Amino acid sequence: MHLVDTYKHKGMRRAMLQNLPIKAFIHEQVLAAMDRVPRHFFFESAFVEQAYQDKAFSIGEKQTISQPSTVAFQTELLAVESGQSVLEIGTGSGYQSCVLLELGAKLYTIEFHRSLHDRARQLLKQMKYEAYFVCGDGSVGLPTFAPYDRILVTAAAPQVPQPLLNQLKNGGVMVVPVGNAADTQQMYQIQKTMTGELIIKKYDNFRFVPLLGKEGVK
Ligand code: SAM
Repeated sequence: MHLVDTYKHKGMRRAMLQNLPIKAFIHEQVLAAMDRVPRHFFFESAFVEQAYQDKAFSIGEKQTISQPSTVAFQTELLAVESGQSVLEIGTGSGYQSCVLLELGAKLYTIEFHRSLHDRARQLLKQMKYEAYFVCGDGSVGLPTFAPYDRILVTAAAPQVPQPLLNQLKNGGVMVVPVGNAADTQQMYQIQKTMTGELIIKKYDNFRFVPLLGKEGVK
């Protein structure tokens, strides 16, 4: 793929970010990170206009690249600091991965579908990003490199996956949409205190594709 980010693309990106309905809630660092990632690189050239609308879009395998508002919201709740280890469940297109990398994350990202994993890995390499890519069931996490400062799940879990909670550091944060995959979900922001207690905040009305695998939707 020819990766070109023109003034027109940059303009469309800026306009999309300026008009995000939840913009007031999002820190400048998150918006700036999203501004540095050309979202149209994750789309076929015929769909460039769609890349800069606040909408989810099909990426094959019945999966989607998340809506920009949702990426902004999840990233905001995750509160990544530079140098932190971040485990992402659901690489998908790799767009959200790039936003996390722009914030300085040391990123481990897992994708269930081989075709999406291969495509995202190849594209991020072309874009000169470095991350640790795994193809497999992320619902059980990635114990080899645990514990993580941050864990982000980008698919709807029927309940908070216990293996992921176990792999979250004390003082860490996990963001995961929880609820019925056929309906809307609540976004959980889970903070694990330094003594291991969980503080959970819930936000209504999100719609994600189902989390697959052992801890996913049966
Ligand atoms: N954040 C992604 C992006 O920016 O394109 C979008 C993620 S999409 C909404 C959810 C992704 O989670 C899909 O690509 C899906 O295949 C993946 N997924 C679902 N269950 C999974 C699992 N158990 N392990 C790893 N990936 C999973």
